[in-house]
Amino acid sequence: MTEKIIVVGCTHAGIAAVNEILKYRPQADVTVFERHDTISYLSCATYLTLGKTISNLDEAMYADPDYYRAQGIDMRLRHDVIDINVEEHTVFAQDLETKEFTTESFDKLSMATGSLTSIPTIQGVENPKVKLCKTYEEARDLCDEAQNDERIAIIGGGYIGVELAEGYNKSNHEVILFHKKETLLDRHIEPEIADKITNLLEDKGIQVKTGTIVKSFEDGADDTLIVKTADEAFEVDMAVICTGLLPQADLLQGKVDQLTNGAIVVNDYMETSNPDIFAAGDAASVKHNGLQTDVYMPLASQAVRQGGLAGINVLDKRLRSIGTQSTTGMLIFGRTLACSGVTLAMALDAGIKRY
Ligand SMILES: Cc1cc2nc3c(=O)[nH]c(=O)nc-3n(C[C@H](O)[C@H](O)[C@H](O)COP(=O)(O)OP(=O)(O)OC[C@H]3O[C@@H](n4cnc5c(N)ncnc54)[C@H](O)[C@@H]3O)c2cc1C
Repeated sequence: MTEKIIVVGCTHAGIAAVNEILKYRPQADVTVFERHDTISYLSCATYLTLGKTISNLDEAMYADPDYYRAQGIDMRLRHDVIDINVEEHTVFAQDLETKEFTTESFDKLSMATGSLTSIPTIQGVENPKVKLCKTYEEARDLCDEAQNDERIAIIGGGYIGVELAEGYNKSNHEVILFHKKETLLDRHIEPEIADKITNLLEDKGIQVKTGTIVKSFEDGADDTLIVKTADEAFEVDMAVICTGLLPQADLLQGKVDQLTNGAIVVNDYMETSNPDIFAAGDAASVKHNGLQTDVYMPLASQAVRQGGLAGINVLDKRLRSIGTQSTTGMLIFGRTLACSGVTLAMALDAGIKRY
């Protein structure tokens, strides 16, 4: 009997899963549901395009839906999965073009629904001059706006905010980077190294406001935006929210085990607490080898690794994950920042003793 697999979400984790299913189970009946009309967009393309490392956003796509159709995969782009009935093994989806609904059954399901930008509760955050930067559509909007806007506020000084600050600086924009913690990249590096990154950004002319909470966004005169903190106001043309990512896993809420932030808990085979459902990438947890616990770590590198494992294991469990050391790298103004493991603060928080 041919097994039917449904993959929900087709960016890095979804594509990696489909690639491995094609390799190991080419006869499987595979249906992919993806909300967007493109697959494989790399979110880092915004700052790479702004900084002219690549010439346009489309260069950051590496997979073509027609390739998968030619391999016999039923690729349903512009289809939104609305509900998953785990008892009946069905997925309920809407075609976003025709508005028609469809129900498909599955033997095994692979969830690769990724993440959403975590939007902070700042007054005025819904202002159209306050932008997001994850999807291809959002990135196009940012790159289009960059033609007109000169002064950019970036809210959030993690990897995404710091890299975007570099991109806008390289495209001759004035940049103010706000970060509520005392040091940039605080989830990845020690304060001494963060200070060096701050100095590097400031040397290039970027204003870095650490330990600063943005309180509101308001319309200013002449189509400007006023970004207010507790004791200052900054006039800019546009703001970009870079305050982190949240798992997009509500379709399985209450149906499988989840971390407190909603990430789907997976075992070493990417299997959830329901053996017919696998999950990978930004929608899922990952085992941190240093902390010896399941954590949430939304990274494309992780999504590809986990997605591949979900594809290999979805029909029979063959290959275990080796977990993660949380290894990341960033090129910033020609300097490389590489990190692996946990910071001292994270280790102490996790109850690891200091000797
Ligand atoms: C600006 C930016 C820069 C980044 N830079 C880096 C970097 O340099 N290195 C790195 O490792 N990581 C980076 N990341 C993180 C990286 O983008 C994510 O970790 C990665 O996209 C996760 O891939 P994914 O496939 O798990 O999820 P996503 O990329 O979130 O994809 C999920 C897919 O599922 C689809 N989907 C969701 N729900 C449904 C539904 N109900 N029905 C149908 N389809 C659905 C979505 O449309 C989407 O296509 C960056 C992120 C941002 C925002």
